[in-house]
Amino acid sequence: MKLLLLLAALALALWLWRSGRARTSSGSAAAPSQPQDMIACACCQVHVPAAESIAGQRGRYCCTQHRQQSEP
Ligand SMILES: [Zn+2]
Repeated sequence: MKLLLLLAALALALWLWRSGRARTSSGSAAAPSQPQDMIACACCQVHVPAAESIAGQRGRYCCTQHRQQSEP
């Protein structure tokens, strides 16, 4: 009987641990939607994520066309 209780407790602990892990993993999956640095294009003022912006001599741009337009 003691063994049965031990197994039940173990199963419960395992279930709690797994459900806790599932919650945290789904939380990290939502990470890309978290706020990130936005940068205004120096040409058209459109805001783009800093990681997707294109660096120029006069600032950052939303695309290479705008960098070419603004910088001779
Ligand atoms: Zn632009």
